[in-house]
Amino acid sequence: MSFKDLKLSKPLLRAVAEAGYDNPTLVQEKTIPLILDKKDVIVSAQTGTGKTAAFALPILQSLLDKQDAPKKGKTIKALIVSPTRELAIQIEDNFKTYCKHTNLRTTVVFGGASLEPQKDTLKKGVDILIATPGRLLDLHKQDLVNLDYVETLVLDEADLMLDMGFIDDVRKIERLCTKEKQILLFSATIPHKVEQLANSILTTPERVEVAQNSSTSKNVAQLLYFVPKKSKIELCLHLLRNTIKGNIIIFRRTKYGVDKLEKTLLNNDYKVDSIHGDKSQTSRQDALNRFKTGEVNILIATDVAARGIDINDLDAVVNFDLPNVPETYVHRIGRTARAGNTGMAYSLCSADEKSYLKTIQQLIQIQLDVIEDHPYPLDPKAEPIIHKSKKTGSKHRKGRKSEASKKKKKRWY
Ligand code: AMP
Repeated sequence: MSFKDLKLSKPLLRAVAEAGYDNPTLVQEKTIPLILDKKDVIVSAQTGTGKTAAFALPILQSLLDKQDAPKKGKTIKALIVSPTRELAIQIEDNFKTYCKHTNLRTTVVFGGASLEPQKDTLKKGVDILIATPGRLLDLHKQDLVNLDYVETLVLDEADLMLDMGFIDDVRKIERLCTKEKQILLFSATIPHKVEQLANSILTTPERVEVAQNSSTSKNVAQLLYFVPKKSKIELCLHLLRNTIKGNIIIFRRTKYGVDKLEKTLLNNDYKVDSIHGDKSQTSRQDALNRFKTGEVNILIATDVAARGIDINDLDAVVNFDLPNVPETYVHRIGRTARAGNTGMAYSLCSADEKSYLKTIQQLIQIQLDVIEDHPYPLDPKAEPIIHKSKKTGSKHRKGRKSEASKKKKKRWY
């Protein structure tokens, strides 16, 4: 099947061709006709299947079909609700790519960023709004968004949205839109609570199911941040403040790194504990219990210390340091999204870890989703910092070991 068969008009076909897409993906083939037919749909598809275009293209097509109507001030006709700021930004990027040969306007609003620029864009009028739930409700309360004209409501990553505790917000948003709207629910998995939500707000929905494309990406959104080594702590704090919520494991390669990060997070009033090989069994068990009972929601760990521990309900895994053994990456992120839940994996990659990243991506056969929009970007030309071992230098700043010595010796955590 080609995109032309999907009855998309020229400006969209041109944008899709320029994006380098030859043919629609399976989820696009199955979903686009249903959306154009104004059906409510429940789509179970992972990130990486092309699901964003599966709703973005038919939404744009429907808006283009209506553009002959006399030009009034722009009103929000499509609303996409997304659980996280990163996903919201990605969705907007997608919309921007596909609508670049049209005069449709889109914008994105999310928490943790200044209200003013978002207010200004909204005042100018947009056709498509992408939003995280909290910020959308804030703006609505202040009378800065009008949802009276929404014809299509998309709930993206619905399972994640519910896991993050947005159920009441989602229901509120649904009620704020017109009754007659079309609702599109996208979710990596359809657990009972998503099914319940769908039953209560969708009207005789059609269902589309697309199989996973890789064991690692099962239900995990894998995001990658390039960041200078010295800024990793700042970026980690920024993500914890704005993006990463819930029960989190942060992996570091060394015990020293675990202790250092724990101190920083404690100083910033996070509820955190840690496990690594230098801690006594009792203190490790205490840390685990505090994590499991919810007394703390962040656990910092080395790989060996965390191995084999069954920790349920993990919302996110943070690879503060990328592992030098690629299989370790798969084990780490396998700790989130267990038992059909969804999860997030955030990887922070500095210049000297790019070779690890390469081997990880080769192993899992997936390119991680690079998030460029963050305050500590890495200069793409940055060279790895090689610490020459000096007698006066810290023992934690030794250069990397040779491949041969890595094989022979036990790792240092
Ligand atoms: P998504 O599942 O929406 O996160 O999309 C995953 C990636 O697939 C994005 O980088 C899209 O740009 C890309 N993509 C979407 N549709 C197609 C297509 N038909 N052909 C090739 N790549 C696509």
